[in-house]
Amino acid sequence: MADTPDGGESLDIVLDVDLSKRTSELADENLALLDAHGVTAIDVLGSVGSGKTTLIMGMVAALKQRRRIAVIAGDITTRIDAGRIEAEGVPVLQIQTGGACHLDANLVRTALGRLDLDSIDLLIIENVGNLICPAGFPIGAHQRLVVLSVTEGPYMAIKHPVMVRQADVAVINKIDLAEAMEVSVEQLAADVRSVNPEIEVVATCARAGQGIDDVIAALGL
Ligand code: MG
Ligand code: ZN
Repeated sequence: MADTPDGGESLDIVLDVDLSKRTSELADENLALLDAHGVTAIDVLGSVGSGKTTLIMGMVAALKQRRRIAVIAGDITTRIDAGRIEAEGVPVLQIQTGGACHLDANLVRTALGRLDLDSIDLLIIENVGNLICPAGFPIGAHQRLVVLSVTEGPYMAIKHPVMVRQADVAVINKIDLAEAMEVSVEQLAADVRSVNPEIEVVATCARAGQGIDDVIAALGL
């Protein structure tokens, strides 16, 4: 236990090393399984309300003529998002985590067993809406895409450095609301790059379809 500079108390969390190792082994097994079937998997992360589902719907609409797509929708209790994505006419497998605030490699492994991997070549996985703990749970995806929304305020990137550092692409969404939220998209993008210089940053208004093609290009799809 240690005192933090602002007078709060911080607790050291002891990670279970075996659990962490097993998690990354399972993630590697998922990747191997996907590779064996020629499937590219994208893990889509972001807070509740950041626009993950809307972004995925836009990506599916733009890609479904040339890619064979399935979606895994992780959700704590509801299947609202799965129903929305299904309307795009691609198979959607819902994982209700039953209270857990992230997907893990084991849940995804079970889901992979229920998909016909030979009939798809792109798997988009909507993780549970949460920017904190999913960072510590690799699920076996080829790329991680993190969605930040300007409606979450100006500090999302610097408050979630672990997530941003692990992501390959950062989407800054709802840019049509940036002025009303008094958030600078340029500053947010600079914050993202300061945490992760390698990352691709794309600004979108997913609801209006703006920037979807740039997201697809950034993912190399
Ligand atoms: Mg969603
Ligand atoms: Zn969690």
